[in-house]
Amino acid sequence: MSSSPIQLHNFIGGRFVPPSNDKYFESPNPSDGSTNALVPDSTDSDVDAAVSAAATAFEAWRNTSREARSKILLKIADLLERRIDEFAEAESRDQGKPVSLARMVDIPRAVHNFRFFASAVLHMTEKSTEMDGVSINYVQKYPVGVAALISPWNLPLYLATWKLAPAIASGCTSVLKPSEFTSVTCYLLCDILNQAGLPHGVVNMVFGTGPSAGAPLVSHPKVRLISFTGGTVTGQHIARTAAPLFKKLSLELGGKNANVIFADAEYEKCLATTINSSFRNQGEICLCGSRIFVERSLYPKFLADLKARTEALVVGHPSDPATQIGALISKQHLEKVMGYVALAQQEGGTIETGGTLVTNIQNGANGFYMRPTIITGLTHLSRCAQEEIFGPVVTVIPFDTEADVVEWTNSTQYGLSASVWTSDLKRAVRVSGQLEVGTVWVNQWMVRDLNLPFGGVKGSGVGREGAPYSWDFFCEERAVMLAL
Ligand code: NAD
Repeated sequence: MSSSPIQLHNFIGGRFVPPSNDKYFESPNPSDGSTNALVPDSTDSDVDAAVSAAATAFEAWRNTSREARSKILLKIADLLERRIDEFAEAESRDQGKPVSLARMVDIPRAVHNFRFFASAVLHMTEKSTEMDGVSINYVQKYPVGVAALISPWNLPLYLATWKLAPAIASGCTSVLKPSEFTSVTCYLLCDILNQAGLPHGVVNMVFGTGPSAGAPLVSHPKVRLISFTGGTVTGQHIARTAAPLFKKLSLELGGKNANVIFADAEYEKCLATTINSSFRNQGEICLCGSRIFVERSLYPKFLADLKARTEALVVGHPSDPATQIGALISKQHLEKVMGYVALAQQEGGTIETGGTLVTNIQNGANGFYMRPTIITGLTHLSRCAQEEIFGPVVTVIPFDTEADVVEWTNSTQYGLSASVWTSDLKRAVRVSGQLEVGTVWVNQWMVRDLNLPFGGVKGSGVGREGAPYSWDFFCEERAVMLAL
């Protein structure tokens, strides 16, 4: 059953403050449609106060040692780890994901983000050169300044900390604006930041909508860097705003990722992973594989088994440990995803399974649930196979040749990730090497090494994050040439 809504406040200069207009909006609990949080409806004056606090804090924070920053990051990680259960429950209530998933993935990954960058910052080294006894030259890295961090609703704390941790590590100060749909765990983190001894103003949070709170943050003259994760259309808007102001920009945007499955794939692993990559977190992960291309000789068996496994998935209340698929983020998003089911039929597709709302969830009658859905009979150029649906819906399409499947994989405006399934090592390398994406998994999915560059190409974004890429992004470089 739902508890009474939590009222959030902005976090500015280490203090919790109401929005200047004293307005709040209701953020629903996706599992039952009740109000989960009252979120500040912040505007430009709140953003200005947060940016000013960050700018003031930057003067001292930029000069702290890497060791000092590392210690604070480790403290944050420890404090968060002690509260994993509380944060997992809060994340699940706010986002609709199964609490078991938040407990196993989201919150531990947020802890890991802090620990990883606490360690990474101690190991960053810079280049130096010497010119024939004339000059010795070296590169100095220094923090950019005030960073705007804007995050989406699908992996709320996980993706916010993917930005916060390197910003803190590099000596930047920041203003984070989480998604208006999922602000609660970021809000809870503020308390931990204070307890860990992070100086006031190093991290500030402003809660609110994209147009009211996000837009003034992006265009604020004192913000020197923007790290944004969200939709491609929002990313275009932010890029248009930021370009004439010469802000450093990282855009992690949408995806329409392909699973390329050859007939010689290790069958059981491939099938089980495809279920995960299709439907984990209700299919609301930017890295989910939503276009499944299967070599024609394997296609009938694979489709039958995929369908049977999908039908066995438990859609349920996120708090139920047996639940595998929780609630979608909002009524509006559920309607958008169901709209694609209708579109698939108009495009001539067949709904093999799913495509229906689920309305009989105990304690969740007004929640946003649907059955995981498999669509066949569409080409790779159909709208359902080209546009990002971002829900538990996949298209399965047979292919005949390697050349075809490479062309089809590359045929969308997106280029975030792909997975390739084959036992033929040469083919794995050949196919991977032709895919226009930022990440390729071979015979696996969603394995993340934070040392590697993470990001997309084409409509999936610009820039890379991860160590050392985040270090490069959150720092400027100065070349110093010293006469000998
Ligand atoms: P969204 O673009 O609607 O919102 C993302 C964030 O931007 C939110 O905090 C929102 O309030 C803010 N925002 C909206 N308009 C803004 C504006 N004009 N100026 C500044 N900020 C603004 O995206 P979403 O619906 O929250 O998230 C889903 C999308 O995120 C999907 O497309 C998904 O693929 C993508 N995503 C990408 C990655 C990645 O790593 N590439 C990871 C997760 C999600």
